[in-house]
Amino acid sequence: MSTADNRLDEERTRTGLSKDALNRAFLDNLFYIQGRSLEVATDNNLYQAAAYTVRDRMLERWIKSARIYKDQSARTVCYLSAEFLLGPHLANNMINLGITEVAREVAEELGLDFERIIESEEEPGLGNGGLGRLAACYMDSLATTQIPAIGYGIRYEFGIFDQVIVDGWQVEKGDTWLRNGNPWEIMRPKLAFPVGFGGYSEAYTDEHGVPRQRWRPNLVVNGVAYDTAIMGYGVTNVNLLRLWKSEAPESFNFGAFNVGDYYGAVHAKIEAETISKVLYPNDEPVAGKELRLKQQFFFVSCSLQDMIRLELRHTGHLERFHHKYAIQLNDTHPSLAVAELMRLLLDDHLMTWDQAWEITRNSCHFTNHTLLPEALETWSVELFECLLPRHLEIIYEINRRFLDEVRVHFLGDDERVARMSLIDEQGGRRVRMAHLAAVGSKAINGVAELHTELLKSTVMKDFNDLWPERFHNVTNGVTPRRFIVASNPELAALITETCGNDRWVQDLECLRDLEPHAEDHALQQRWREVKTNAKRKLSNWLGERTGFAPDPETLFDVQAKRFHEYKRQHLNLLHIVWLYEQIKQRPNIDLTPRTFIFGGKAAPGYFMAKLMIKLINAVGEVINTDPQVNGYLRVLFMPDFNVKNGQRLYPAADLSEQISLAGKEASGTGNMKFSMNGALTIGTLDGANIEIRDEVGHENFFLFGMTAAEVQQQQAAGYEPWELYQRDEQLRAAVDLISSGLFSHGDTELFRPLTENLIHSDPFMVLADFNDYRERQQEVDHAYKDRHHWNRMSILNTTRMGKFSSDRSIKEYAERIWQVTPMSADLSSPF
Ligand SMILES: *Cc1c(COP(=O)(O)O)cnc(C)c1O
Repeated sequence: MSTADNRLDEERTRTGLSKDALNRAFLDNLFYIQGRSLEVATDNNLYQAAAYTVRDRMLERWIKSARIYKDQSARTVCYLSAEFLLGPHLANNMINLGITEVAREVAEELGLDFERIIESEEEPGLGNGGLGRLAACYMDSLATTQIPAIGYGIRYEFGIFDQVIVDGWQVEKGDTWLRNGNPWEIMRPKLAFPVGFGGYSEAYTDEHGVPRQRWRPNLVVNGVAYDTAIMGYGVTNVNLLRLWKSEAPESFNFGAFNVGDYYGAVHAKIEAETISKVLYPNDEPVAGKELRLKQQFFFVSCSLQDMIRLELRHTGHLERFHHKYAIQLNDTHPSLAVAELMRLLLDDHLMTWDQAWEITRNSCHFTNHTLLPEALETWSVELFECLLPRHLEIIYEINRRFLDEVRVHFLGDDERVARMSLIDEQGGRRVRMAHLAAVGSKAINGVAELHTELLKSTVMKDFNDLWPERFHNVTNGVTPRRFIVASNPELAALITETCGNDRWVQDLECLRDLEPHAEDHALQQRWREVKTNAKRKLSNWLGERTGFAPDPETLFDVQAKRFHEYKRQHLNLLHIVWLYEQIKQRPNIDLTPRTFIFGGKAAPGYFMAKLMIKLINAVGEVINTDPQVNGYLRVLFMPDFNVKNGQRLYPAADLSEQISLAGKEASGTGNMKFSMNGALTIGTLDGANIEIRDEVGHENFFLFGMTAAEVQQQQAAGYEPWELYQRDEQLRAAVDLISSGLFSHGDTELFRPLTENLIHSDPFMVLADFNDYRERQQEVDHAYKDRHHWNRMSILNTTRMGKFSSDRSIKEYAERIWQVTPMSADLSSPF
């Protein structure tokens, strides 16, 4: 053997997957990285050692993947997202590497608690909810389906706040997820790009006598790359997640220091670092926050400069940039990419407008996530002028050319021209980010069938009239690796045993193989045991945190998602209050005992959402301590709903509440996670609920409420919640009980904003859907009593969820939108 072979062999042992290799590596990482022996190691030491051990095993595959992609000049997907709500890495990376069982044995032989080590990981909460979690699921699926991809985003120092409940109210705590270090990331200090702000745009003539424009920013910050490896399941492909941290340029304080302005220098340094300091904790844009626009431009600019660097290094020119990259804009947050890519190509790489536009328009693709008017992002022209003067010029020029096209297409239709303009001229002038993204993109997609249809017929109707071929639907999905295998190992084992193999983990349609067994009483029995065990586990956990452990024999009815009026947690509450009243009136009522569990964060400035949280806790306090009702009902609030806590919740749910007003929830992904874990859904015809119901069978889904069309009709006809309140005695009783002060120690003012809003305005039509909701809940109550039937429905909910794997979504994007083909990163091919 040559020395080179020897060395390679050593490398292999160092990163081998055998029990001995893992054992050795774990102890080495504990000792040499952290200076600890087993005897004195803390939970965090053990977790870090495990994380480094796993990461070491991903590195060879990562470098190999990168090399293969590069050698093959692979077309690469660049997923631009201001949020990646990743959740803990350790358990998932072990699953994707296929080493969970060996690792567990190693831990046990060392006398360590494997689950506890996994539990010690603090999750990177770099997102608010559905949108950021989707980006994370897509990273998992891109790697698993072997698509060369880079995720680009922001490395926030503080992610989404931690939620604690004090006296029933939400209190926000800063999320210090980096305080113990982050073993998954690799800092690339040399991989940094300058990002400008402010200043002015100036005209000049280049050496060939061509008139040109350039940007003279008055502030420049540096974006430094932090890389995380994203491992595919059952493949050796490892993709890259590259997050940018803002820093002051290295040369930075000397200038100021020399003229003696020490304070000024330090201040500017702090200002530079502020950009990636904290995630905005709002599910929708906050008007006029300059820092947020800075964040968006910051990460978009770094990412595009990085793509350009890679392409120049590889080919020496940018003419084929759009062949090399498919850029996906996750909502409008990265839509400045259109203007920034134009600027880089025009000003820095001296292309003509037509050439730059051809490349830009064929590189970008845009996903719309919302129809709520308040969530359609706009920025004032004034702020743009001040922060991004050159980009505003470019946007004006894009708009001028675009509106000429619109005028030609729709002769004489001036109103349409005004509606479609990138600039909203009404009131203060504002840049419409969705229009910028749409004009600069090759494809525009909605995230569920209904959402895409509504997109085409309402907010983007004019664009659909002009470019119908650009519109697509790609229904969202979630990764079964995290949301079944990692979070519900008992269910995963039962499925694998019954199917006879674990192909379903990579191809979720294989769950259909279970279907012939849905009638099998033995399977139903075991299915139920798995569910009850998950409920028991959750119950124990809740008992430790909240002091109350719910009875796992009761029906677990769960609503876990961000708090928002359109998601209608108050509809759920109104039903609970109504039930309470029923039990009070008829103490011997025949009711299935239920535990209602809520989880979710409210945006810190969203008063009504915070009041809903308070009301849940207030209702819980009364119900849970009233012996007349607490044999039937319990109401719990699980604090700090995040990915980690979600993974405890989804497996334990019997009933999933997906009760948004029809037409408001773009897709939802929580609905999919619940169903995959065998929860039945009570839901409206909204977002992906419609498709879930079609897949699992209408008889296995509790449907209620108006359709989106009926909602539109009622609102057009003039919706009068007050009349409903007057007319419907049941409804009035529930609302009045809340305003009576019963849940607020006699205070009749506390919840008045909520009840008054329902009675007099009710923008999300809670009262209109209440009766139907109540009736369907009664059906749930009866259905749960027939255990065989319920178990059968539960099994069918899981077996028919194949469509909702994010692997399916990614394959649709790859084929229909990105035109990119999978590329195997086979380790056995020459290094
Ligand atoms: C899946 C998920 C969401 C999205 O839930 P919806 O019910 O689709 O709104 C939000 N937050 C977390 C932590 C999630 O895992």
